[in-house]
Amino acid sequence: QVKYENRGTYFTYTAQLDDRADATSAIEARLKRALQHEGFVLHYQPVIDITSGRVASVEALLRLAGDRDQLIGPDQFIPIAEAAGLIGQLGEWVAVEACRQHNAWRKEGLPPINIAINVSPLQFRQRGFAQRLQAIVQAAGLDPSCIQIEVTESTVMGNIDDAIHTLKGIRFSGIKVALDDFGTGYSSLSHLSNLPLDKLKVDQSFVRRLEHDNSSKAITMAIIALGRALNLEIVGEGIESEEALMYLAEQGCNLAQGYFISRPLSATDFTDWYRKRTTTCEVELSRRGPES
Ligand code: C2E
Ligand code: MG
Ligand code: MG
Ligand code: MG
Repeated sequence: QVKYENRGTYFTYTAQLDDRADATSAIEARLKRALQHEGFVLHYQPVIDITSGRVASVEALLRLAGDRDQLIGPDQFIPIAEAAGLIGQLGEWVAVEACRQHNAWRKEGLPPINIAINVSPLQFRQRGFAQRLQAIVQAAGLDPSCIQIEVTESTVMGNIDDAIHTLKGIRFSGIKVALDDFGTGYSSLSHLSNLPLDKLKVDQSFVRRLEHDNSSKAITMAIIALGRALNLEIVGEGIESEEALMYLAEQGCNLAQGYFISRPLSATDFTDWYRKRTTTCEVELSRRGPES
């Protein structure tokens, strides 16, 4: 039978081998319904500037509404959406919703919050992807630099010339680009310097092992040095401890994301988190008094 397993931020859909085909078609049916009836939700994970402690951006992370108020995580349904030919539609929903939320936060009195959205390989390779994204951002009346896309190495390395063309179009419109999960794919380092990018995200598999494993430390250090040499901003993701945050800061990583800072939050929880955080920072600053 299909059951849910609590993974902290959402529930994972698990099934026995014989039930897997059933589970897949159940999710596919749920995806189709969700596209028609607002069955998706975006959660937002803060990314902070390590030096100033300010919120630099949030990453939008997609969830599918399951039974009994439970949410299903993207690893469970993105591959199914791709196989079912639904990823283009789904990706557009994400972009529209992120822009809507950006404007909603501004109406609530928050400063402009930069939002990163994840783009799957199939979606990225669809013809007209850059133009459609640009049109969505424009229709929402947003400054394009408030939106960033995250693509993985495999997304861009497969067909490097086409990828460069698409990325150039996106960046030309003012939208930012980050290379996600860096270090796990099959990037050719010589190609990396040709890619039009703004940010490099150090894969969390290294960051999460920093305290336990010297080779993860070495790899993280090398990735940060590489990114800096290429003039990219560097995001450490999967930061679960103060030690990991300190190590990344020492190595010159400028942006940080992970459970140690905050888990992904619903839009309203983010508003609360943001307001509380800003107040605490102000209190700390006033306690410290004016700079001498
Ligand atoms: P990602 O883009 O690398 O996103 C980071 C993932 O790591 C998120 O998982 C986040 O919840 C998790 N994470 C963040 N900090 C920590 C930490 O400190 N510890 C641990 N253990 N995990 C942490 P999530 O939300 O399950 O997303 C998984 C993947 O699904 C994402 O990886 C991304 O590739 C994909 N995804 C998410 N939203 C979308 C979307 O809207 N469209 C597409 N195409 N893919 C998406
Ligand atoms: Mg990402
Ligand atoms: Mg990642
Ligand atoms: Mg990932």
